[in-house]
Amino acid sequence: MTPDVLSAGPQELEALLEEAGQPRFRGRQLFRALWREGVADYAAVTVWPKALRTAMAQRAPWGRARCLAEQRSPDGTVKWLLAFPDGARVETVLLPHDYGYSLCVSSQVGCAMGCTFCASGLSGRLRNLTAGEMLEQVRFANTYLAEADPGARVSRVDLMGSGEPLDNYTATVRFLRLAHEPEGLGLSYRHMTVSTSGLAPRIRRLADEGLPVTLAVSLHAADDELRTRLMPVNQAYPLEAVMEAAAYYWRRTRRRVTFEYLLLRGLNDTPAQARQLVALLRPLDGGAHVNLIPWNPVPELPWQASTPAAAARFLDLVQAGGISCTIRKEFGRDIDAACGQLRRREEGMRDSQGLWVIPPRPGPG
Ligand code: SAH
Ligand code: SF4
Repeated sequence: MTPDVLSAGPQELEALLEEAGQPRFRGRQLFRALWREGVADYAAVTVWPKALRTAMAQRAPWGRARCLAEQRSPDGTVKWLLAFPDGARVETVLLPHDYGYSLCVSSQVGCAMGCTFCASGLSGRLRNLTAGEMLEQVRFANTYLAEADPGARVSRVDLMGSGEPLDNYTATVRFLRLAHEPEGLGLSYRHMTVSTSGLAPRIRRLADEGLPVTLAVSLHAADDELRTRLMPVNQAYPLEAVMEAAAYYWRRTRRRVTFEYLLLRGLNDTPAQARQLVALLRPLDGGAHVNLIPWNPVPELPWQASTPAAAARFLDLVQAGGISCTIRKEFGRDIDAACGQLRRREEGMRDSQGLWVIPPRPGPG
């Protein structure tokens, strides 16, 4: 079987090169070339003798992701539809902040969770991504930044693109560890967020990994009946189980847990619901932060975003209840920044409402 070079760590690459009769340090050179330098192919691994490059291209081939479409928003948000060598496609969104750039990374092609407000779940889960394919999204964004903003690199990653990262647990944890490798992307764990729809047992398992990453729990409702309507996964892991797992995460890691709460007009944005949310989070005793998210319209879904007035009132009430709370800045609304939307459009749901698709960039490889 061909080894999955893009999902391998430095030591695994050392072993791979050793098997090929090479000194072990060649493996570390490859890891560095892959993720620090972002080389396009073996031919570009110029620290190696030419014969070795040719031999490894035969023995352990790999292919970079290609860009199929790019959308840029005037606020600086850039969204790409990337394709892997087998044709699977995912979206990745680059967001500019005053501290630098964050990247919204996908963990699966589609999603099996079926949340009723989300474009990613509309056609189910097609497949898991490998750790290498998650790293590829960061590498692609860095390659883009090398031209667009020389000297800048992605400094935060959020697993908030398509897919449920904890439904692809092993690859997700491998991705987090590899993204942290100092000889590769060198990202700090504190600058990584894993967002989940609330797979309680996996939240506990993540807490036990010893990685100080931020956990974000997509809550969206503070009562089981409404949450089950919005998120079918709530039947398997109702609020009590999710909250116990989140409290465990907080105790174990001392990392404050973010609770994401989408504001949907007339559905979950009333003052009574804000108070219910406060009551639900209070037992976390300072370990909770609420991130209110304006819903990004998905054409084929029936919901509406809350009015700005309702959102402001909701924010006030949560803060007045003593819970730290912010409203997420809206990024790239003009380019359909909600997860899963670009892929769906590319797959035949294209319309002309301000959509701006630039022909593919000549990607490396
Ligand atoms: N599956 C994980 C991570 C990917 S979704 C999760 O659900 O947490 C990342 C976030 O985007 C979640 O909080 C999700 O609820 C939110 N989201 C999904 N569709 C959205 C939309 N149309 N507008 C705004 N946020 C959306
Ligand atoms: Fe999946 Fe998250 Fe979308 Fe729900 S919100 S369908 S869990 S990607």
